[in-house]
Amino acid sequence: MHRNLNYGWIDVITSGAMYAGKTTELIRRVRNFILAKRTAAVFQPKMASRFTEDEMIVSHDGVRFEAVHTDNPMEILWHAEMHHPAVIAIDEAQFYDASLVDVVQELANRGHYIILAGLSQTSEGKPFGIMPQLLCMADNITSVYGVCVLCGEPATKPFALRAKTEDVSIGAGDKYEARCRKCWVDGRRERGEA
Ligand code: ADP
Ligand code: MG
Ligand code: ZN
Repeated sequence: MHRNLNYGWIDVITSGAMYAGKTTELIRRVRNFILAKRTAAVFQPKMASRFTEDEMIVSHDGVRFEAVHTDNPMEILWHAEMHHPAVIAIDEAQFYDASLVDVVQELANRGHYIILAGLSQTSEGKPFGIMPQLLCMADNITSVYGVCVLCGEPATKPFALRAKTEDVSIGAGDKYEARCRKCWVDGRRERGEA
């Protein structure tokens, strides 16, 4: 893949479903940069730090990496100005407010290599937060998917195991599962949602 550490770059790793390997892929890329002696900083929103109290991100299969937990995109900018990491990675980017869009653009314009991972769709199949803007700004997009837990086909949809009561509901295997479009539609139809 083309990488340009001299002029800034925005990578987006995305999927419709969780358990698709976004966090795993983000950590893999950051580790590669560190092996190549590039400095890196990883961020995630506080609401997504479901698996750990520590300042870490953790993938669904237990891969861990040090990360700053913050909900404020300005903090990412200030951190970059103070520490000058060559690579800035942000997991669960879909949970940030619209100010992240400008921060990411500015950091890339200043020459940082940005890696974003985010869920592109809600469990209703609608665009998730600022993901459409982030995907449009990307220099490169990697689309990943999991395995449908019902039929084994590629899973591209996040299925909510119970009807939703709130807008954003955080959780892992207890609340959502990865499904293919057919099993996602079937499940929603059974509940009268589609
Ligand atoms: P994401 O960040 O996209 O939610 P992660 O990188 O955290 O995904 O986790 C991916 C890992 O989840 C896989 O390597 C696998 O071990 C595990 N996993 C659990 N359920 C599934 C599934 N249905 N499909 C694919 N991977 C799954
Ligand atoms: Mg993840
Ligand atoms: Zn299926």
